[in-house]
Amino acid sequence: MTNWHALSKDEALEKLDSSSEGLEESTAEKRHEEQGPNKLPESARRPWWQRLLAQFHNVLIYVLIAAAILAAALEKWVDAGVIGAVVIINALIGLVQEGKAEKAMEAISQMLALKAKVRRDGRWQEIEAAKLVCGDIVRLRAGDQAPADLRVLKARGLQVDQAALTGESVPVDRSSEAVDEDAALADRKGMVYSGTLVTAGEAEGVVIAIGSDTELGKISTMLEGVEKLTTPLVRQINRFGHILTAALLAFTAAIVGLALVIHDMPPAEGFLAGVALIVAAIPEGLPAIITITLAVGVRRMADRKAIIRLLPAVETLGSVTTICSDKTGTLTRNVLKASRIVIGDEARDADQSVEDNPGVVALAEAAILCNDADADGEEGDPIEKALLALAEPADIDIEQLREDHPRRGALPFSSEQKFMATAHDGRLIVKGAPETVLERCTAQRSGQDCQDLDSDWWDQELDKLTADGLRVLALAEWQEDKDWDDSIEPEEVGDELCLLGLVAFEDPPRDQVPAAIKACHRAGITVKMITGDHAATASAIARKLGIKGDEDTLTGPELEKLEDDELIKRVGATNVYARTSPEHKLRLVKALQANDAVIAMTGDGANDAPALKRADIGVAMGIKGTEASRQAAEMVLADDNFATIASGIEEGRGIYDNIRKAILFILPTNAAEALVIATAVLAGMTLPITPVQILWVNMATAVTLALALAFEPTEGEVMDRAPRPSDQGLITRFVAVRILWVGLVLTGLTFFVFQWSLSGQSDEALARTMAVNLLVVGEIVYLFNCRRWLSPSLTLEALLANRWAWVLVGVLVLMQAGFTYLPAAQLIFETTALGLGHWLLILALVTPLLVLVELEKWAYRRRQSRAAD
Ligand code: ATP
Repeated sequence: MTNWHALSKDEALEKLDSSSEGLEESTAEKRHEEQGPNKLPESARRPWWQRLLAQFHNVLIYVLIAAAILAAALEKWVDAGVIGAVVIINALIGLVQEGKAEKAMEAISQMLALKAKVRRDGRWQEIEAAKLVCGDIVRLRAGDQAPADLRVLKARGLQVDQAALTGESVPVDRSSEAVDEDAALADRKGMVYSGTLVTAGEAEGVVIAIGSDTELGKISTMLEGVEKLTTPLVRQINRFGHILTAALLAFTAAIVGLALVIHDMPPAEGFLAGVALIVAAIPEGLPAIITITLAVGVRRMADRKAIIRLLPAVETLGSVTTICSDKTGTLTRNVLKASRIVIGDEARDADQSVEDNPGVVALAEAAILCNDADADGEEGDPIEKALLALAEPADIDIEQLREDHPRRGALPFSSEQKFMATAHDGRLIVKGAPETVLERCTAQRSGQDCQDLDSDWWDQELDKLTADGLRVLALAEWQEDKDWDDSIEPEEVGDELCLLGLVAFEDPPRDQVPAAIKACHRAGITVKMITGDHAATASAIARKLGIKGDEDTLTGPELEKLEDDELIKRVGATNVYARTSPEHKLRLVKALQANDAVIAMTGDGANDAPALKRADIGVAMGIKGTEASRQAAEMVLADDNFATIASGIEEGRGIYDNIRKAILFILPTNAAEALVIATAVLAGMTLPITPVQILWVNMATAVTLALALAFEPTEGEVMDRAPRPSDQGLITRFVAVRILWVGLVLTGLTFFVFQWSLSGQSDEALARTMAVNLLVVGEIVYLFNCRRWLSPSLTLEALLANRWAWVLVGVLVLMQAGFTYLPAAQLIFETTALGLGHWLLILALVTPLLVLVELEKWAYRRRQSRAAD
């Protein structure tokens, strides 16, 4: 085994047959074939039979199995067979649905695959981390997660959080130093291990181990597979299911006991009626429907570029009252263009020809030297790439200039300090937010010389640029012959700089954003902008976007002066925060939460992680975000676009709606089935529906109708509602009232049709076939009511919105036809053929239900709009 930490950089490179220029692409490909993908093995999926067996682990199934055994013991073979078949079919359906849901989640987690910056063929490029091979040269920046085990070759202020490996979340310093052979993992200064997070600085390193050969791979060769498909809501429903089962067992025992005593019912019949009652009442399909609804919904959100990392977020999304968004890149395009420059005593367009103006040339040179973007403008921060455009009018060859003035040291940019600096022979160049740079200047460039700074004039020029919503950078230099270290400390920059000038950039809002902000406002959601940019720039953009609050822009320094309780009072009315640092975001989240807001907060930097974690929904950026921010977030925007948050909220509300609709649909029908049996048993009447028939109805509708609701598209009006109060339970008064009355109406209709049929001298078989079909047709009709929460269901648009509903209704109709007319089914279920008149009667009886529910919705809508007036 090689002790990489004890080898020098060159020894390590030699051993890996690599160089600081990186591997050739062809070598990397060959190695990839030999070494395999850089991935930890996923925990093997349980074999299908084990997953099938797990489906039987359910109290209800235990009850059913016991019932089947008892029925067989009583020689009731048909009952035993049907119950057995239901148990098996139920398990198979569960297995298929679970598999589908897991696949959907797997596809989504792959969208978040880790990327790595690697140098191949001498060029930096971004590839999937899975494609890394030993010997690759990788670049790390603050916020990155190490994609493999690396021997550090170059490091600047590098700090790493090794929590993934050691469990301890304290950043440790790392450098390119070799250490003693028997140094412990934590003391191996020259190593950065896979899975650890870079918290500060930057580095380059060579990959020494990938996949399961990494230290992380050694301690956990198993990667936690797909995230479990569970949320607080699913758990709440499972718990509700357990309580319901227990209560039902007691209720059933009481009813059957009474029937045995009062009506002298034969024990075997009593027992089967009891089983039927339990099966009828328990909404066994509900947990599976919720799982499928979540999976379908999350998939739909991913199609709209909102990737859910943590499933509970789906529920929370519907309650969001406030979105706090970054400006640059999220609200604006972040495709910057330098439009104006200001030097000495003149302001001009950035693309104006230079005509040997030494001031402009000096500014352009500084902008190109104090800049991390690649010379070809392909890699780098958009603002730095935009600065390279100053080269052309000034006739500068970027590569030549950089070769002539090599970088001796650097202080990287950070959002806290808001500037960066680079040292070259004989001078230091500083670039950053104008106020920060101006503060450190005492002079300004004039021609070839420096003269006293005219602060007022610069302030005026700055005001003009920012008032137009332009993003502004200042550049300054310090002519000093000094031996600079590789890494420069902020104090070393000093405050006697000579200002070279300002560069202003256009960063227009993204096209879809104004409409998305309007949609949020309609949906009762406040949008706040939290930016690192200048106050006036932020205000101008906020005005364009329509998010200006009642109060003025609050800046980071002003915010620091406020006590917590003062801030809590101000956050409500202030919508624009400028010149903020990441730690201000955390304070803002806390202050907003103290006002009972439910917050979605965006962030991209490593230091945004605490605010993202604290927010109710942390939103990270898929393109420009750091891995650290993504790991702290609940939702990731694949396109970094604010409009996607609004789509996410819309879909989230839709998913919650569909879950509520499934409940609104399933519970009354279960209640009706149970009430029919309980009433008949208690009254000592002939059962209008036999236990085997109940099992059929339950199974047939659970695999068809309820499933249709999972595919219901989000209703257009979800964004016209106020956010759902976060403490609102699933069973609101509206839901409870609906369950009760629809349950009672269906029960009444079933009894009516059964008695009516019997009184017309029909036999029991016909009366029961009528009763069963009435219940099923009633459920079909009621499904159409439930497909819309409050808006009318009987519009063409609503009827055509979900083709699955029609397909599944079609399947159910075929199943019912088989149940009614097939001789084998007639034998098993004791059914008999119905005539056209029977069907017409059934339809005539259930149609009023359709109308009644629509009337209820109409009355509710009217009450709501009156209350709103
Ligand atoms: P947001 O928080 O909305 O993304 P932002 O990008 O302006 O806004 P920061 O990245 O924190 O926020 O930048 C703060 C300020 O620092 C910018 O307004 C700009 O003046 C300056 N700045 C940004 N990038 C650089 C850079 N690469 N070099 C020097 N200064 C920069």
